[in-house]
Amino acid sequence: MSVDYDVVIVGGGPAGSSAAAYLAKAGLSVAVFESENFPRPHVGESLVPATTRVLLETGAMDKIEAAGFPRKYGAAWTSSLPVNVSSPQVTKFTHELGVADVLFSERDQPGVDRDYTFHVDRSKFDLILLKHAESLGAKVFQGVRALRADFDDPDKVTLTCRLGSREVDFTAKMIVDGSGRQTMLGRQLGLKQADPVFNQYAVHAWFEGLDRAAVANSPEKVDYIYVHFLPISDTWVWQIPISETVTSIGVVTQKHRFAEANMDREKFFWSFVESRPDLYEALQKTEQVTPLKVEGDYSYAMSQICGDRYVLLGDAARFVDPIFSSGVSVALNSARLACKDILKAVEADDFSKGMFADYERQLRNGTRNWYEFIAVYYRLNILFTTYVADPRYRLDVLRLLQGDLYDEEEPEVLRIMRETVTAVENDPTHLWHPYLGNLRSPFVAPSF
Ligand SMILES: Cc1cc2nc3c(=O)[nH]c(=O)nc-3n(C[C@H](O)[C@H](O)[C@H](O)COP(=O)(O)OP(=O)(O)OC[C@H]3O[C@@H](n4cnc5c(N)ncnc54)[C@H](O)[C@@H]3O)c2cc1C
Repeated sequence: MSVDYDVVIVGGGPAGSSAAAYLAKAGLSVAVFESENFPRPHVGESLVPATTRVLLETGAMDKIEAAGFPRKYGAAWTSSLPVNVSSPQVTKFTHELGVADVLFSERDQPGVDRDYTFHVDRSKFDLILLKHAESLGAKVFQGVRALRADFDDPDKVTLTCRLGSREVDFTAKMIVDGSGRQTMLGRQLGLKQADPVFNQYAVHAWFEGLDRAAVANSPEKVDYIYVHFLPISDTWVWQIPISETVTSIGVVTQKHRFAEANMDREKFFWSFVESRPDLYEALQKTEQVTPLKVEGDYSYAMSQICGDRYVLLGDAARFVDPIFSSGVSVALNSARLACKDILKAVEADDFSKGMFADYERQLRNGTRNWYEFIAVYYRLNILFTTYVADPRYRLDVLRLLQGDLYDEEEPEVLRIMRETVTAVENDPTHLWHPYLGNLRSPFVAPSF
């Protein structure tokens, strides 16, 4: 049966364009439908080293290097005292343990040939990846929204798109959904399930002239990503260098706090930042160069991430809280893993769900591991900073932070962390008991 393309891809973000690059490079006919006209801004600016492997394999790395994005050699966490903890012993403890940092060069990672990754202006980064896919032979339609997919014909899938005022159909052997948090197929097929625990909310903008040294752990670490904990439960601020002089700052908290605060996003942002005087003072001296933007309702999973003639990638497959900058690496690696199965499906001319089983297993391992790590972190973040500082666990934690987590069902260090959290929960006299956070997720992550 003749079709317009071997594969149609919805969304030209990092997931969609990387999948297009892999498939076009392998000689398939591929079309990408992107509703926006690039460049367009996007949240999610700090990468982890697991992205490197994909950028090398697709051949996009040279273009990313040439763009001159700030290099990211490590990550750092700073904290202040949690509210309601006043014991002098605990206070001393917090000051000692509330700060941590990691350097990516401390651990080698398969497929990764350099000891840094990047902080990126997503409008530029995403454009480079989309153009790269196009240069490899993918057909890219920008400003074209995919509306729905029709699977009624057992021999092909039909994607209906809006082109100006018209609706136009495109046929293919299969469809890849990289539509991000718009989750086109997940919504159409009723697969989407809200996270039972995480319901975070973020307010963010870019600032010119932040003295990063004023809030850095040490002078050589000014260009790390910083996660600054606020003295408010489950609440933190990201600090991401976008250029020499521009820094992205975002406040992340539980959504209900925003509703309860009953103030506009401007007041909310500044009143939360004010709870960390060092950060507040440094930020007061800067110029805000983009309006504050809000992101909400973003944690969910899908009951299925593949099916007959379709796979879901990146945010269209799963979204976990962004505390460890995992999103773009999940997007890129989901493309890497899915494309292996897609190529086998094309070879066998069999596009049934079972052909994508390896992809499903590996992506679920990866996102489950991220999820468990994040759950431990929110429940007892002092445990995280302690383990980062402990030579017995440091490299295993670093492995998670590098995004090297698709192969194993559960890394040993996650099991140990989880058991420690349970022990602390069950012992009210434990020194760490006062530090337990409010977000208590089921430790077996949702199995969808
Ligand atoms: C508050 C917050 C902070 C974050 N911080 C980080 C971070 O520091 N580091 C990190 O790696 N990740 C971070 N992320 C996650 C990151 O933003 C995403 O994981 C990443 O962008 C996913 O890439 P994607 O290609 O799957 O989706 P997207 O990048 O969202 O791309 C999807 C594309 O599909 C297009 N599209 C959607 N629907 C349609 C349609 N129907 N037809 C055609 N086109 C369509 C969209 O226009 C978009 O261009 C953060 C997320 C949030 C919410």
